[in-house]
Amino acid sequence: MEKRAMTTIWITGDQTTMRSRALTGADPATSVVLMIESLARSKRVPYHKRKLVLIYAGMRHFADDLRAAGWTVDYYTEVPDFAEPLAAHVRKYAPVAMRMMQQSEYGVTERYTALAAEHGLAVDVFPHANFLSEANDLDVLASKPTSRVTMETFYRRMRKKTGLLLDDGEPVGGQWNLDHDNREKPKKGMRFPAPPRFAPDAHTQDVIAMVERHFGDHPGIIGDFALPVSRADALIALDDFIENRLDGFGPSQDAMLAGERTMNHSLLSHAINTGLLDPMECCERAELAYRAGAARLNSVEGFIRQLIGWREYIWRVYWKFMPEYKERNALGADLPLPAFFWNGGTSMFCLEKSIAHVRETGYAHHILRLMVLGNFGLIAGIAPLEMHDWFWAMFVDGYDWVMAPNVIGMTLHADGGYVGTKPYAASANYINGMSDYCKPCRYDPKLAVGENACPFNALYWDFLGRNEARFAKNQRMAMVMRNWSAKDDTTRAALRDRAATLRKRLRAGDAL
Ligand code: FAD
Ligand code: SF4
Repeated sequence: MEKRAMTTIWITGDQTTMRSRALTGADPATSVVLMIESLARSKRVPYHKRKLVLIYAGMRHFADDLRAAGWTVDYYTEVPDFAEPLAAHVRKYAPVAMRMMQQSEYGVTERYTALAAEHGLAVDVFPHANFLSEANDLDVLASKPTSRVTMETFYRRMRKKTGLLLDDGEPVGGQWNLDHDNREKPKKGMRFPAPPRFAPDAHTQDVIAMVERHFGDHPGIIGDFALPVSRADALIALDDFIENRLDGFGPSQDAMLAGERTMNHSLLSHAINTGLLDPMECCERAELAYRAGAARLNSVEGFIRQLIGWREYIWRVYWKFMPEYKERNALGADLPLPAFFWNGGTSMFCLEKSIAHVRETGYAHHILRLMVLGNFGLIAGIAPLEMHDWFWAMFVDGYDWVMAPNVIGMTLHADGGYVGTKPYAASANYINGMSDYCKPCRYDPKLAVGENACPFNALYWDFLGRNEARFAKNQRMAMVMRNWSAKDDTTRAALRDRAATLRKRLRAGDAL
């Protein structure tokens, strides 16, 4: 029988989707899918153990799905790196070409194609299938190549492009953005439907043992792992969100409760980022729920905006400005990341609880990331790259593309205000109003100076004072800067003293 020329399709850990054009344009009869569990790749960053379970279990389940769909899969488990398995694969199949989807991290596609070139393989690289936008969707909106494009402008373009929540080309309900309806304060005794749990099957149990064996020194705990790691389970998780939490998603979006880790959030980011779920199918399901009268418009619009607005915008900003974006530090922040981010040892209740969530689950919802963990980093002046690396390591949905614009841009304002026109800085007043954290806390949210004063307060005012010249030019900061200016010299000096003491203690490695 004539031996057919084979093509290799190399699939990596965050590409577990049948939508990949590396697959859809290929013929299973003349292709072999290559999948490699490189231990070195997972040691580059001290990833949370749960994240590693998600990636490896996701790969093994996806390999099963591929085989069931008629593909040949050449799978290498627990190997030191990519080089030897790739060589073994080439010896086994003698491929004449390689196909690959674009890697999500800057510079990695080039590294992998260079590796393939060592075996004489030219690689056809296909656009990433986990995103709906193209580079042009951002670029076309900029008057000059360097001009800023806001998320809101980009989002409206994406609504028109996808046709989501449109009636005759106009936004359903008459408004593009219903965020103003989504800022309800948490109410006492609020309860939320628990997300579904997926008991680990044999594959996942093997992976859990493997992660403990090779990555025992990584942060986080695997605990009673119950996240979806297959397409089938991810679809169940999506159904459950649409049926049980989507309707309440909007109103409670900004609320924080110490006893409620997930609230009405979807918990789908990790499955969307690895390709188990298609962002478009998530949006379409949400729109259908609205049209069927099963979910209110402000919730559905809010959810769709997170996906086709924020998520796509973040992806585009990353590719537009990398690699220099990660070096940005517009506010000159240089405080080392406090050790309590890793070990949880702080008396600040909101931070202690949030860090505990992350250590135990690899997850915290958006407002905890932005307004507690990130806000502290912003006003204390933590070095952007150190903060970025912590988030990247600790979150199950963390990838470089999503961390850089979210942490360096949105959270720390270190990109000079591209992602957000105004910094998301807040004092204890905000946290106290939007959560139940302050009551049991050792610190007093109403005080700004003195040993019992909440550190967020003096750090917040001092942050405004430190950056007075810059923020004076920012219209959106006018009101808070007026509040700072209205303080008398004695008050300002006291706030600055308290903040200097706190920052000195943080710099010395003391916990607060
Ligand atoms: P939901 O609240 O249910 O939101 C729905 C979906 O919208 C998410 O699943 C996600 O896919 C998307 N989304 C919403 N906001 C963003 C955003 N700003 N950027 C990208 N996608 C968004 N998201 C990640 O996917 N990975 C990260 O590592 C990550 N790190 C973050 C770090 C910081 C400091 C901040 C402020 C935000 C970060 N985000 C990240 C964005 C957002 O917080 C998470 O996507 C969200 O909390 C994930 O939980 P969920 O699936 O329950 O989201
Ligand atoms: Fe956080 Fe301050 Fe409230 Fe304590 S008092 S929970 S540190 S905001």
